[in-house]
Amino acid sequence: MERMELAGVDSSRLSAVLVTHEHGDHAKGALALCELLDIPLYASFGTALRMSWLEHPLFRAIESEDVFEIEGFRVRPVIVPHDSREPLQFVIEARSEKRLGVLSDLGCVTRNIVKAYQGCHGLQLEANHDPVMLRNGPYPPKLQARVAGNYGHLSNRQCAELISCLAWSGLQSVTAGHISEKNNAEQLVRQELSAALACTPDSVTLLPQDEPSAWFELR
Ligand SMILES: [Zn+2]
Ligand SMILES: [Zn+2]
Repeated sequence: MERMELAGVDSSRLSAVLVTHEHGDHAKGALALCELLDIPLYASFGTALRMSWLEHPLFRAIESEDVFEIEGFRVRPVIVPHDSREPLQFVIEARSEKRLGVLSDLGCVTRNIVKAYQGCHGLQLEANHDPVMLRNGPYPPKLQARVAGNYGHLSNRQCAELISCLAWSGLQSVTAGHISEKNNAEQLVRQELSAALACTPDSVTLLPQDEPSAWFELR
């Protein structure tokens, strides 16, 4: 709520909340927000099971990969490899046929993911870590292996490769988020992604963890 206010977003215009998976940085507070605004909470069965949401009247189950509609927006759930029960990410299409792809918390990019995110006009992607910083960073070996593994998070390089696969003439906006504070550095993200985006490092848009992003519009 606080972040919405800071971004100048009127919370009463929120129609629903989509939860990707049960990890705290994504699910914590989601139900409380939905209760406060009396709006539905969408999540997979596995996520809801983990969060004990199954019996809640505001919970709406997402059938994995079945497209559904929320107030004129078509929502396509996409299965991703991540170490949670039933993680999903989303491609959202407006009536104007503009498509926004939101993709974070995945250890590797599957063929299915590349197919699902083709033709997006906006992409919000994860550029989580730099492998060298991760290896030399403060995480214990087990956690390092988790982050770098196929069910962990995308590195800057993996993100850049994905951008190269998804780039097309209609792509207007790419933002990089879920950037690790300990295992990554802004400059490294900018370097890797600018090559894929064919822009200067300074014009790569990063989403910081500790403040709300600007408002982005697809035209
Ligand atoms: Zn996360
Ligand atoms: Zn996660």
